[in-house]
Amino acid sequence: MKQSAKPVRHCHACLLNLGDRCWIYRYPRGQWRHHRHCLAIDDTDLHARFRTWQKQPTVKTRRELRQEFFRTKRKDGVQAEK
Ligand code: SF4
Repeated sequence: MKQSAKPVRHCHACLLNLGDRCWIYRYPRGQWRHHRHCLAIDDTDLHARFRTWQKQPTVKTRRELRQEFFRTKRKDGVQAEK
């Protein structure tokens, strides 16, 4: 059986819930299975590490740069001012 990376209902209010995946666990459902309680949901050290990770600058891929360029490009082919 394929294990889904998608967070479950219990993860709703968790800071580490990225919507389509969990920041720390590959299989979030396993953290809540069999009446277990995910330990990371209340771990303040882990939350601090997550916030530091969030503040890091991101490197854009060539595709993202190209998409950004064409979104700001005017009809006459001149790059719009930001
Ligand atoms: S850390 Fe635990 S509660 Fe938070 S999203 Fe991941 S599995 Fe869910």
